[in-house]
Amino acid sequence: MRRFYGKAVCGGVAIGKVRLLQHIKVQSEKTVVHDTDAEQNRLQQAVTTAREQLLALAEQTKAQLGESQAQIFEIHAMMLEDEDFMDCIRETITKQCCNAEYAVHHAATVFAEGFATMDDAYMQARAADVKDIGTRLLRCLAHQQDMEVWGASPCIVCADDLSPSETAGLSTDRVLGFATAQGSTSSHTAILARSMNIPAVVGLGNDFLAALQNGETILVDGQTGECVIAPDGQTRQAAEEKQNRIAAHIAALHTLRTAETVTADGKKIRLYANIGSAKDMQQALENGAEGVGLYRSEFLYLQQVALPDEEMQYCAYRHLLEQMPTSLMIIRTLDIGADKQMPYLPLPHEKNPALGVRGIRLCLAHPELFRTQLRALYRASVHGKLGIMFPMITDAEELRQILSICAQIRETLRQEGIPYGDDIQHGVMIETPAAAICSAQLAPLVDFFSIGTNDLTQYTLACDRQNPQLEYLHGAPSEAVMKLMAETVRSAHAKGIWVGVCGEMAADPTLTEALLHMGIDELSVSPKDILPLRQHIRNLYGTKKD
Ligand code: PEP
Ligand code: MG
Repeated sequence: MRRFYGKAVCGGVAIGKVRLLQHIKVQSEKTVVHDTDAEQNRLQQAVTTAREQLLALAEQTKAQLGESQAQIFEIHAMMLEDEDFMDCIRETITKQCCNAEYAVHHAATVFAEGFATMDDAYMQARAADVKDIGTRLLRCLAHQQDMEVWGASPCIVCADDLSPSETAGLSTDRVLGFATAQGSTSSHTAILARSMNIPAVVGLGNDFLAALQNGETILVDGQTGECVIAPDGQTRQAAEEKQNRIAAHIAALHTLRTAETVTADGKKIRLYANIGSAKDMQQALENGAEGVGLYRSEFLYLQQVALPDEEMQYCAYRHLLEQMPTSLMIIRTLDIGADKQMPYLPLPHEKNPALGVRGIRLCLAHPELFRTQLRALYRASVHGKLGIMFPMITDAEELRQILSICAQIRETLRQEGIPYGDDIQHGVMIETPAAAICSAQLAPLVDFFSIGTNDLTQYTLACDRQNPQLEYLHGAPSEAVMKLMAETVRSAHAKGIWVGVCGEMAADPTLTEALLHMGIDELSVSPKDILPLRQHIRNLYGTKKD
């Protein structure tokens, strides 16, 4: 039995078999194979899958972003037919009796180096394309292996780190919990784990991975941050008793499912859910959410292998709205960039991605992408009470530009005879210090504000939310952030609009009273946090007593 301590991300205890998720980097190491024909077949299957993916991507990108953006995928597909490149991979397998992964990695490195040393700038740029192709082939090869070793039984995913798209791809039917060597509790990966309500621990350190073997039993305590590999009978029994206690507590809280969220002195507050998928929506309903305060629409994109088109998005948004037709459902427009990357939309490398072309900036840089999402949203709006919210806003001019695009989309729909709702609310995320400082100029333009304290903290305190060493700055309430929030509330109420909090701070019970006294009208939290927070609010005083 070995114990490790990391940072607790999400409550609950999971016991299960380890499933080590190794990343592509590790799998390109050279291993000796005896059956080189079988290896050539694996390679051929991976090439076929990669080509299919690339052609589908080219097709969709052409429709949504135009011919020139799509060309890159067509070029990549053509490279898979390049005799020299493919011969280099095949010969390496046969001559060196090695695995396909190593042969792909070797060929991609040799060809990329060859391109990089050419005089012509166009040919030099092809180096990045060859590397991309190599990575795609490695992913396809890994996927085949993944399918073989994954098996059908539920497991606990252990990895060095998980990206938001990998976390979004975890199936909650098969994954009982996860534990990672790296990671911070404010990252999107941690936020996803909370909304999926999977017991999770991050930052367990490098020794943790070295101590693990696929298939052995592990216990993950998402409340304390403890992980025990090969727990003995007594430890296991104690964990099972804890699981039972947690289940009994959750069952008791369920009596508050339909109760009002009102303080002891009668102040009503809206308690909404943060969700990222249709499955989270079910959780939100089961936990008595009064609405959805934040649907992170990027997770719909992250779960796909290609850009979701208008029809696909319309169906997804309609499905969500129909489940809560009389309550407000706020869908945030695509917030991609920084740690959230779509593998099928390669974005230029940025030195400081958190300060780069992310969120609304990316949408404005790719107008077709933005228009497709807005059309899908407006079309779906007739099926419920829709709110549309824009991330990463920094000033009123930017917001006017966005609202004008929205008005154009509505006008086009009107001309096409396609109906859209007449009571759609538009709102802004206050998650940059600039937006909070300029909130008085933003308030007259919209129906609501929602304060994103995760990014507001990151940008106000200049602390990367991904950096585990700066976790202490994210955990504690900062005076500077609280002042910006108070300013935001004043600006909102002066113009008669409501203001909520949808960052992780909304779920921190030690701050609830301060937020209520500040005048916050709505709190939006992970579905699992709704009932404990409702119970807490019912025991608080919403108005400050002198
Ligand atoms: C936030 O920044 O507080 C927020 C809710 O958005 P996200 O965590 O998705 O960046
Ligand atoms: Mg944010």
